[in-house]
Amino acid sequence: MLNMKDISRIYRSDTIQTHALRDFNLQVNTGEFVAVTGPSGSGKSTFLNVAGLLDSFDKGSYELDGINIQGLNDDELSRLRNEKIGFIFQNYNLIPDFNLFDNVDMPLRYRGFNATERKRRISNALEQVGLASRANYLPSQLSGGQQQRVAIARALAGEPKILLADEPTGNLDSLMARQVMELLHTLNTEGSTIIMVTHDPDQARAVGRNIQVIDGQITDHSVYAPINGNAT
Ligand code: ADP
Ligand code: ADP
Repeated sequence: MLNMKDISRIYRSDTIQTHALRDFNLQVNTGEFVAVTGPSGSGKSTFLNVAGLLDSFDKGSYELDGINIQGLNDDELSRLRNEKIGFIFQNYNLIPDFNLFDNVDMPLRYRGFNATERKRRISNALEQVGLASRANYLPSQLSGGQQQRVAIARALAGEPKILLADEPTGNLDSLMARQVMELLHTLNTEGSTIIMVTHDPDQARAVGRNIQVIDGQITDHSVYAPINGNAT
């Protein structure tokens, strides 16, 4: 599904040169759930941004769902990103004036799907996250955990090949964090491929596969038996 070989990402300014990723190698297969941990500044966000085609790289090769992304122009990258990737952010990034339906609809409109197809995708996605009955609510009428579930629905509605989550429970109290994690585990059991950056070692350990990033490189590649792999 995702194959990175010897990826380096170097940020240059007048005085300094930062190797955010150096000779980074990772292969993720369809259906895997991968947790990415590591100290602040180690390159986790850069990795997710490169994986999500939001950032470029200076060296190495990257194949996503069988497509070599080298040499693609911005339009092609944008189309590929819309088709293949579902993003989940720490801050949900919901539009406050839009109800849940319209929030999930936004990227589908952008992609030009017709009304019937959009409605099908939105209904399915809200159903999957358990918020179908609240399609007309505004984000402000929901808890933080529910808002994150809307953001997950928005990602799912794109029917992506892979979900990329950056600290998805970073703003949630522990109960809501657990509910969001249970949802991600359920989605994984149902077939979603997920890569999640997290600071929480327990959360990471509950996930099938862990990688640790230090100084832009993978230093640990433990495969844990999932503690909570089929939680629903
Ligand atoms: P993490 O997500 O693990 O905290 P990052 O990927 O954000 O790490 O950052 C890795 C390194 O790259 C850090 O040294 C950071 O300061 C640097 N970096 C990240 N983004 C940029 C940027 N846009 N310009 C310059 N340096 C950057
Ligand atoms: P383009 O490069 O074609 O202008 P964008 O970078 O604007 O595309 O958007 C790329 C993808 O990221 C789209 O699917 C868009 O819906 C999604 N996107 C952009 N901004 C956000 C956001 N704040 N929250 C959620 N999705 C977003």
